[in-house]
Amino acid sequence: MVDLESDVFTCTPSYALYLAETAEEMGHDPRELPISTVVFGAEPCTDPMREEIEERLDVTGIDIYGLSEIIGPGVSNECHEAQDGLHIWEDHFLPEVVDPRTGEPVEEGEEGELVLTTLSKEALPVLRYRTGDLTTLDYEECECGRTMVRMDNVTGRADDLLIVRGVNLYPSEIEHAVLDVDGVAPHYRIDLDREENLDVLELTVERAEDTDRGHAELREEILERLENVLSFTPDELTLVEAGGIARSEVGKVQRVYDHR
Ligand SMILES: [Zn+2]
Repeated sequence: MVDLESDVFTCTPSYALYLAETAEEMGHDPRELPISTVVFGAEPCTDPMREEIEERLDVTGIDIYGLSEIIGPGVSNECHEAQDGLHIWEDHFLPEVVDPRTGEPVEEGEEGELVLTTLSKEALPVLRYRTGDLTTLDYEECECGRTMVRMDNVTGRADDLLIVRGVNLYPSEIEHAVLDVDGVAPHYRIDLDREENLDVLELTVERAEDTDRGHAELREEILERLENVLSFTPDELTLVEAGGIARSEVGKVQRVYDHR
């Protein structure tokens, strides 16, 4: 990047953070790299994760969305101006949002599963394809002036839903609650096991590199936030030092390990 003066970088959100760490290890200040924009996709990205990428690399973070069954990346894209939802290219794709349980369309603005129909694709058109991705649609005109409908960042999949002792949880909800805690790095993993017919959830969270907050204090705040936001307490909470959770060097990051 330094040699070629790369300006824009496209990757998964977890890879953007991996790049920042690697640059540091190589003796570069990631904020001094020539990139101004990171376009990230292929993994759910919550707002705290985006903020971390923007802060660590001193860039504007733009979300892109697509799926191989339709076209790959490029079904929708955030605009640089507003960064407030991803414009779906409606001249090519007709979006709908349905209730994942019944398949019935939801009211405008309600969350549900995104369904896409291709309008211009030849040879392999796709009719009312259920993407499995959970989002909402916003038909208000965007600050940037574009009038194409915007979808919210995909923060979960209909089939990601974890049912732990009868409690419904999305990994993205856990991510959102935990990453809001000061002193926590944007890396975590969830391990699910079954012990004597009971579901057991172990959450592993990484400490931020530069934090001087004590172990006990961090633990307590994480547990308190999970309880307040999700009414949920993990069976085990492990705090590890910065760099303690495996990074994805290739492909998509795996955060949930279901051993049940
Ligand atoms: Zn816009």
